[in-house]
Amino acid sequence: MTLQTPYYLLDKSVLLRNLEKISYLRQASGVKCVLALKAFATWSVFDIMREHMDGTTSSSLNEVKLGAEKFGGETHAYSVAWADHEIDEAIANCDKIIFNSVNQLQRYADKAEALGKPVGLRLNPGISHSHFLLADPARPFSRLGEWDMERVRPVLDRISGVMFHFNCENDEYDSLDGLLKQIEERYTDILHRMKWVSLGGGIRFTNENYPIDKLAQRLKAMGERYGIQLYLEPGEASVTKSTTLEVTVLDTIFNGKHVAIVDSSTEAHMLDLLTYSEYTSVAPNTGPYTYIVCGKTCLAGDIFGEFQFEHELKAGDRISFLDAGGYTMVKKNWFNGVQMPSIAVRHLDGQVELVREFTFEDYARSLS
Ligand SMILES: *Cc1c(COP(=O)(O)O)cnc(C)c1O
Repeated sequence: MTLQTPYYLLDKSVLLRNLEKISYLRQASGVKCVLALKAFATWSVFDIMREHMDGTTSSSLNEVKLGAEKFGGETHAYSVAWADHEIDEAIANCDKIIFNSVNQLQRYADKAEALGKPVGLRLNPGISHSHFLLADPARPFSRLGEWDMERVRPVLDRISGVMFHFNCENDEYDSLDGLLKQIEERYTDILHRMKWVSLGGGIRFTNENYPIDKLAQRLKAMGERYGIQLYLEPGEASVTKSTTLEVTVLDTIFNGKHVAIVDSSTEAHMLDLLTYSEYTSVAPNTGPYTYIVCGKTCLAGDIFGEFQFEHELKAGDRISFLDAGGYTMVKKNWFNGVQMPSIAVRHLDGQVELVREFTFEDYARSLS
């Protein structure tokens, strides 16, 4: 079957490799792993994901509801700030609620307590591993979690757990170990008081060379030391390398450099490339022909990257952008009215199934 480009192509067999690592870590360490829906929420493949993960965590009421309805298992409700008109539904749909501030906890925790739902609080340890200030939870004046233990102490008897999210794309075990040591030193008494602690996301433990056994031992020992159930909230790590964005060359031009224009857009379909000033990748990226590959929007800097090809590109040629699973489909938008990529899944038996297509009506309905 030939599908019309652009489309995201999710390969379940690659996804399964990540999921099996997650299962291995859970078994070897006793940690529970909940999928961070903000990174990936393509619910067509939740059937295979729920076999290897304990549930979901969220950043909004919509994600809480999606997790409860489409994934099941444990639904953690977290949001940087809840609104009065959302909180009842968030609590009704979750198994735990994690507040971002003492203010929000004091405003809403009695509603969770009335339904017997465990309450947690996000703490900001003031330390982190992040390559980007934009994504650094411990950046100056960060609003992400409570810093001040004087404010936290009075509510400690209302919470059974805490969440620290302090990593972004951390693929260095020693860095994580060092940060955990500091957290354990600073929060020893709190860790002893809690029943559960989430260490957030951002740990790239599904990467090929990550020392997953060391991580498992480290987390197992930490859980036992304080008598806590540890959680991780992997987003990107769950879907790394599972998905490509399939595009077609529409035109080529020469402006001192060779440029290829494709039927997609960074801004609309792989927004993080612009947010973090990065290029995507292609394979094998070898060959004598160099092209700047650009999107078809009017944004001058709509550039996927500069790549090497085996032959000259011409209209109709196909290109496959790698690693388009995390923070892509959840961020896609209708900028320039560019056709929204379909979503296709390659099943374990090799069959490719088109699971979602978008139409002009979807575009029109996204506005009014
Ligand atoms: C973003 C985020 C995650 C997931 O991060 P990844 O880098 O995708 O693993 C988990 N927990 C919280 C609180 C987050 O903000």
